Amino acid sequence: MKLDEKFKCQKCAHCCSTLQLEEDAGLFPGYFNSAYILHCCKPSLTLFDWEAKEMAEEAEKEGIKLKMTPYKLVYDTNSKTAIILQYALAHNVCPFLKFNACSIYAKRPLICRLFPPNARGITSGTITLNCSSCPYDMKHNDWEESAKLNLEPKAMIKKIHERYGEIFEAEVEYEIMSKQITDWINMLILKGVISPAKGFEPKVLLKMASESQIVPLSMFFKAMIPQKADEMDKLIEDARQLVHGKKFLEEAEKQAF
Ligand code: SF4
Ligand code: SF4
Repeated sequence: MKLDEKFKCQKCAHCCSTLQLEEDAGLFPGYFNSAYILHCCKPSLTLFDWEAKEMAEEAEKEGIKLKMTPYKLVYDTNSKTAIILQYALAHNVCPFLKFNACSIYAKRPLICRLFPPNARGITSGTITLNCSSCPYDMKHNDWEESAKLNLEPKAMIKKIHERYGEIFEAEVEYEIMSKQITDWINMLILKGVISPAKGFEPKVLLKMASESQIVPLSMFFKAMIPQKADEMDKLIEDARQLVHGKKFLEEAEKQAF
């Protein structure tokens, strides 16, 4: 049973060189998990806004022409501002891939740290498991075999954690921070700071956003609610250390058998 084996990356770089933002006209742009968060493109290599900033800084140091595009945004009708929650890298092959290795390995974003397991809903208890594009990871049949074990969710989480180690902690961290950015947006709405555009045809809203001022969420949030700036910085720093993901898994696995 592969689930019992530890995953070992073979450093083939397949995951860093197949990042296409393929067109999927039926889905993008569109509203998915809310009526006001617009998903502008396919989720390729997705970056939180602070990660996008760091990657841009690294690219500048290395003389790399980096292309990024908004992935998730909220359009504020008060300030006529497109607030970018996440970006996507707009390259087929990551420009930081040098001689088949990541040239910013220690600073690579969460999305790179969490590959290849493809588990969703870990923090909400609605776990779905799928195979990824990694040629050296479990295939669809392997996951089907694992499902036949009929493990309790907590026991399954423990097994996956044992197989992937820190990679899985990054996966949970990504899920937690994805919820966190939605919470920050909701706080801006509740405090009456922003009034998100709703009910627009996605393509119309995307055009409006592209013609207005564009601000990353963390910058906007700190400017509008400065008393929460330190708290936000701490959450972001902790996310880099996978603090939330590790803590969640520790708690979840306490009761696993
Ligand atoms: S595709 Fe899989 S084996 Fe290849 S570099 Fe990525 S994680 Fe490692
Ligand atoms: S940042 Fe590094 S790990 Fe991530 S896709 Fe680029 S080369 Fe690969």
